Amino acid sequence: MTVLSDKLTSLLGRKTAAALAEALDIHTVADLLRHYPRRYAERGELTDIAGLEIGEHATVMARIERVNKRRMRNKPGWIVEMTITDGRRRLECAFFGNAHQRERELQLGKAGLFAGKVTAFRNKLQLANPEYQMLDQDDDSADGSRLDDFLGAIIPVYPAASGMPSWSIARCVRQVLDTLEREEDPMPRELRKRYGFVELFDALHGIHRPQDQGALDNARERLKWDEAMAIQLIFAQRRHSAGSRPAPACPPKPGGILESFDKRLPFDLTSGQREVGEHIADDLCGEHPMNRLLQGEVGSGKTVVALRAMLQVVDAGRQAAMLAPTEVLAAQHARSLREMLGDLGQAGELGAADEATKVTLLTGSMSTKERKQALLDAASGAAGIVVGTHALIQDTVSFADLGFVVVDEQHRFGVEQRDALRTRGANDTSPHVLVMTATPIPRTVAMTVYGDLETSALRVMPVGRSPISTTVVPVNEKPAWLDRVWQRVREEVGKGHQAYIVCPRIGDEPPSDKSDKRPPLAVLDVAAELAAGPLAGLRIGILHGRLPSDEKDAVMRAFAAGKLDVLVATTVIEVGVNVPNATAMVIMDADRFGVSQLHQLRGRVGRGDVPGVCLLVTEAIDGTSTRERLAAVESTTDGFELSRLDLELRREGDILGAAQSGKRSSLKLLSLLQDEETIAEARLCAQEIVTADPALATHPGLAQLVSSVVDDDRAEYLEKS
Ligand code: ADP
Ligand code: MG
Repeated sequence: MTVLSDKLTSLLGRKTAAALAEALDIHTVADLLRHYPRRYAERGELTDIAGLEIGEHATVMARIERVNKRRMRNKPGWIVEMTITDGRRRLECAFFGNAHQRERELQLGKAGLFAGKVTAFRNKLQLANPEYQMLDQDDDSADGSRLDDFLGAIIPVYPAASGMPSWSIARCVRQVLDTLEREEDPMPRELRKRYGFVELFDALHGIHRPQDQGALDNARERLKWDEAMAIQLIFAQRRHSAGSRPAPACPPKPGGILESFDKRLPFDLTSGQREVGEHIADDLCGEHPMNRLLQGEVGSGKTVVALRAMLQVVDAGRQAAMLAPTEVLAAQHARSLREMLGDLGQAGELGAADEATKVTLLTGSMSTKERKQALLDAASGAAGIVVGTHALIQDTVSFADLGFVVVDEQHRFGVEQRDALRTRGANDTSPHVLVMTATPIPRTVAMTVYGDLETSALRVMPVGRSPISTTVVPVNEKPAWLDRVWQRVREEVGKGHQAYIVCPRIGDEPPSDKSDKRPPLAVLDVAAELAAGPLAGLRIGILHGRLPSDEKDAVMRAFAAGKLDVLVATTVIEVGVNVPNATAMVIMDADRFGVSQLHQLRGRVGRGDVPGVCLLVTEAIDGTSTRERLAAVESTTDGFELSRLDLELRREGDILGAAQSGKRSSLKLLSLLQDEETIAEARLCAQEIVTADPALATHPGLAQLVSSVVDDDRAEYLEKS
């Protein structure tokens, strides 16, 4: 009999096992059985072709609409060309070699499974040299088994790779399931009963070889719960261990700097700011650290909330640190905090208020002298507020008494970095932590990605923003539109406004040799071309991460002062940059950016009282999921709505960044969009279990569930958002 921990080699043979390992990193029975079908095809139903991703390995059930054999142009031999269709859209296929066999197997009008890498050729989607398995094939296929023999009415379609097509995986799964032993279920019986879940053994059968829809649904419910539970148990344990550490208590001080600040605030706080502010103020009084996430779109007024919290900490005689993802942002934060504080932030200077504190900027590229002074300010406690990049949490920076850390733009700051903060308080206490993000995320994502944090949101904007209209510019289909883009930039500049042009790359890196894809457009190239051509005569500046920091600062100041018309930049301008006179945002190779990044970028315009325009220039082909994502950005400027659309468009596993890192995600079935209830329920259940038994000593099965996830991905999915 077979158990989950068995290696596949002895079961499937060395050759097949090696192929699975090579193609899909599948080594054990558990790996294989956790490689769930991506979807199911029903016999007689064709797969929707829309939404394929260029470069992905896809398996589609389709019908042959056209087959044609012709001689190759510059080589001897034949090429078989074929068009397959789902009834609406088409995929072009080409086969090189074996022309006679192909002709025999690929009959017009027949349906089958086709698998291969999706490419684009002359603006059409293509599967080059696909592997295939015809459904109603007359003769036996090469390996002697026919598709019909081992697949029921519901046909699983697996995430596949070249050399290991979906139907071969199905065959391996069947072989393993046939001898699988019913082992003890890791989920305690009482939980299984409470929620009415089927046993793991039955769930694994049901997900791979469903007898009917009901069996499939039961299997999914159970396996989803396992995924939700594993993650929520980890978070519950994290919350438990982080929350039980000692923290510096920071009760508010009557007549302190916070009260003075509130008195001179030139505006009323919004109801959201007041409410979130009260939560934070309460948390800061506590003997255990606050770990809170504050969401709020760009301009929603997070900085004031953070500053007021920092002042409460300063009032308690401790220090606050504010971390930003880039030096540009850190410098900007320091400036705006000083501005907001006025004489309350000028301790040590002439004319400072009595209760004043000092705001110190500390970045890596400061001169040795400046840096020394800043380090001294932090270590002596002279600085109540220290602003810097994430490097600030490095060990070389010491604080007299760090009570509170604000992290701006959380999506660039992972769990590990947050962990590094834990021991930075005086006497080995854990400072309170507030992380802020302008990327709106649905509740379920917050519970999953930031599950170790309490969450708050600012949903109301304090001051009205001007509308931003967004347009996708598909330069492949409408080449003339690009001229119109530059004309539009000239018009904006003509009206006295300014424009950003964003490119994915800087352009000073050595050329990469092996890529067949065009490299992304680069700031340096685009700026030069525009200056010499379409935007000749305009004052064009350049900004990117590898400029020396004083130069960056100078460029930003020049742009803010209106001394530049156009700023060609990388995403360094993504967050926090505030130039109300900038009204146009052109994003080159927009398909190279994620949805939330595009949304962030476009938030740079429409900040004044003039409407903003955002143009997304792309060569992506119509009908791809890339274009669907751009269309989503075009369709709405509501960040929460957009984050939902984005989630819908992303593939399983992408959500937690597994696709980018090339690693398998632990979330295979659980949908952050559709399984809100499961996730919320699992969170409660996990909290209950961990409160009673933090180490899961009485729940070996659950402990094993947790360690399988943690070991698998090294908790990597916790890092990315
Ligand atoms: P965020 O950091 O969330 O992007 P900021 O804190 O920078 O937003 O706030 C954006 C602008 O709105 C700032 O100029 C800030 O002074 C102003 N602001 C913040 N809160 C209010 C309020 N309650 N009423 C009016 N203006 C506000
Ligand atoms: Mg901000």
